[in-house]
Formats: sequence, C-alpha cells, structure tokens
Amino acid sequence: MQIIRTLRMAATGLMAVSGIGTSGADKLNIVATTPDLAALAREIGGDAVRVTALAKPTEDPHFVDPKPSHLVTLNRADVLIEGGAELELGWLPPLLDNARNAKIAPGAPGRIVASRGVRMLEVPLTFDRSRGDIHALGNPHFMLDPLNVKIMAAQIADQLARLRPAQAEVFKANFKRFDSAVDRKLAEWQKQLEPYRGAKIVTYHRDFVYLAARFNLEIAETLEPKPGIAPSPAHLARVIGTMKATNARVILIQPYQNRRTAETVARQTNAVVLEMPQQPGVNKATATYFDLMDYLVRTLAAALEEKQ
Ligand SMILES: [Zn+2]
Repeated sequence: MQIIRTLRMAATGLMAVSGIGTSGADKLNIVATTPDLAALAREIGGDAVRVTALAKPTEDPHFVDPKPSHLVTLNRADVLIEGGAELELGWLPPLLDNARNAKIAPGAPGRIVASRGVRMLEVPLTFDRSRGDIHALGNPHFMLDPLNVKIMAAQIADQLARLRPAQAEVFKANFKRFDSAVDRKLAEWQKQLEPYRGAKIVTYHRDFVYLAARFNLEIAETLEPKPGIAPSPAHLARVIGTMKATNARVILIQPYQNRRTAETVARQTNAVVLEMPQQPGVNKATATYFDLMDYLVRTLAAALEEKQ
C-alpha cells in the first residue's frame, strides 16, 4: 500500500520535528478525528485548548485520505478524540501506528473514545464485516442525537480535567454551560419537528438514524443497500417502490455522497433532495455545533412542511 509507505517515510522524519511547536505549551493540544468532535472539544476546552480536526468537513468520516501532515499533527497531540465503534477503522490505525505518540495510545489518559457510554443503535446480532458492511459494531453516527452529545461532552470534560487538574474548574464550568444550552436547544428543536412526528424520510447512508430516533421520524429506505455498499439499479428500483407506497418524499444526503443518484430517485418519486451536512464548517451557517443543529432542524422542517 502506497499510503502506508508514504506514512512510514514521514514518520522517520518525525524525530526531527518532535519538540518543535511547543510555544503556547500551556494549552492542551487536542486532535479530533472529525470536525463534529472538534467542535465539541472547543465548547468544553474553551481558551485552555487548541483543537485540530483531521478530517475535512466535506470528507466521509469512514474514508478520510490519510496524509503525512496528519502524522505530524498526531505526533504533537496531547489528546486524541475519536468517534470509535470502527468509524475511523479504514484510515486511523495506520496513522497512529506511525505517529509514535504514547500520550494518545489506547488506554492512555490522552485517548478519548466518544462512543464509550453512548447507547449504540443497530448493533448487529452477529459480527460480520465480510460482506462489506462498515457498521459491523453498530451505527457510529451518533452525534446527531443531542443526548449523546451531552454524554460525550461530559466524558471530554472529565478527561481534560484529569489531564490538567489546575484547569479542572474551567472545564467543569464550560461543560455545565454547554450541557444546559443543549437542554434548552433540544426542547426548541423537538418543538420545531413535532408537527412531522412519524414522517418518512430516505437517506443515502445510514447516517441519520439517531436524528430520526430522537425526533420521531421514520427512515423508510436507504439508497445504499448496506452501509458502505454503492446503490445498485435493482436496489434503487425497490427504494422507488417503497417511497411511492409510503409517500416518503425527502431524501437526505451529505456533501460527499452521490447527489446524481439521489436526484434520479427524487425525479421518479416527486421527492426533494436535501443536503444535510453532519460536520460543522461545510458552510458559514454551520460553524459551531449549535449552528449546525439549528441549520439541520430548520432545513428538514421546511422540507417536510412543503412535501407533506
Ligand atoms: Zn457509516
């Protein structure tokens, strides 16, 4: 594998750069695998931390392009926050092997696994990755349920406090403020989506499962026959049939998913295709966690209103 070779070569060069970049050393250097986890770390860490995300907001969190620059970032990290549940299985392990940073090794205080403590949905009865299913440990897209975000925020606050006891009170206060803000906003979001209780939606990947569960929406179909498997014509024909039978007329996609496929299905079902980015930072309207959720709820409610 070319990428592994490139990473090894870059890793050899890391010896030289270790120790550089320690200016502002009092700030904890947090690396998150994805921008949504990075946004959460910023809410809890505030001014006491510096946060970098490895994946771009427009990248599929399952398939991030590993780069030598990621190695440098990981090598200098005090903390690594990953989604876990195999979300990053396809790209993070080789990076970590080559980043040579004991502070973020599995089980080290600097390693935070977000899925820990979250009640996973769609956990398969039998473990089977052989048919290409990339959700073999359950559905790892749990960030769209605000109650899961509260669990993760608590874990981040706790772990940061342990790493920097002198700033424990700051992290605790940031968490408290964030946690109450989520409660307040969740009530607002539930009110906005309540008129559409039971509405049927279609998604490209199984990445809106937690949003649907929290806000009482029903996922009628998925354009991918299985997580990570591209849609086949036969499967799409079944999807179209289900959409017509159940009156599902909203298709949710992400910036990195195949919009043309979604548009083709939408044309035959009088549906609308909604781009619903799950990562903050795709556009200005979605810069922070709250901006993103406001945007998703508002966009979805407007589409369901129009198509009901
Ligand atoms: Zn997935």
